[in-house]
Amino acid sequence: MHASNSRGQAPLCNVKEMKITKSRNLYPLDFLPEVSYMPVSVIITTFKKENVKRPLEGFGVLVPSKEQENGLKTLGTLFSSMMFPDRAPSDLCLYTTFVGGSRNKELAKASTDDLKQIVTSDLRQLLQAEGEPTFVNHFYWSKAFPLYGRNYGSVLEAIEKMEKNLPGFFYAGNHKDGLSVGKTIASGCKAADLVISYLESSSQEKMLKEGSLP
Ligand SMILES: Cc1cc2nc3c(=O)[nH]c(=O)nc-3n(C[C@H](O)[C@H](O)[C@H](O)COP(=O)(O)OP(=O)(O)OC[C@H]3O[C@@H](n4cnc5c(N)ncnc54)[C@H](O)[C@@H]3O)c2cc1C
Repeated sequence: MHASNSRGQAPLCNVKEMKITKSRNLYPLDFLPEVSYMPVSVIITTFKKENVKRPLEGFGVLVPSKEQENGLKTLGTLFSSMMFPDRAPSDLCLYTTFVGGSRNKELAKASTDDLKQIVTSDLRQLLQAEGEPTFVNHFYWSKAFPLYGRNYGSVLEAIEKMEKNLPGFFYAGNHKDGLSVGKTIASGCKAADLVISYLESSSQEKMLKEGSLP
């Protein structure tokens, strides 16, 4: 198997564009299903500690969709400076807030100014963070998460088909067995073990052919 992408790694949505050859022939990837990704904006804000009147303790909050009825538009907020005390100056609270996802795709693409207003409003409701944030940063991820939708079964089948039909091809990542960092690391470790066994058995086969093994 040969992939024309030199690093031989890519999210599933880009694998379809790769030129993979098997026995010198182009291996068609037309059976790969379309993969949907959800966009997310990440907004970092800081507030003066004295202005956060209800500083909840913990890792953060998730906002259930029902809370949209109460005007909350964010998906959740990590209390970054509480988890990592050196993350911000000691007189500030630093928050990492997520907006968008399948619940609110369009909002993920909003401008930094609009998102700042949304986050400020939600944090005011949730934490009684008063006034304007003293710092704002914004990162937009157009393909933040693959959607484990109705076609998830066909995605897994396609991955399985590639692994079966292309000796030396192994798939790991957030399309298989879970989205979280922990699960993708586990998926990578599993694939690495398979690669090692594959390489070991290939080199043993080669040595047997060359007669260098008894
Ligand atoms: C904003 C955000 C917040 C998150 N928060 C959390 C969290 O708090 N906890 C948690 O557990 N998970 C979280 N996740 C989910 C988790 O981080 C991801 O699901 C996981 O990191 C994905 O790992 P991966 O190896 O599958 O993909 P990635 O880490 O995205 O790796 C894909 C790699 O492929 C490379 N690549 C892309 N295109 C090509 C190409 N054509 N050719 C070659 N290489 C290519 C990229 O550069 C990248 O290095 C978050 C994700 C996002 C986006």
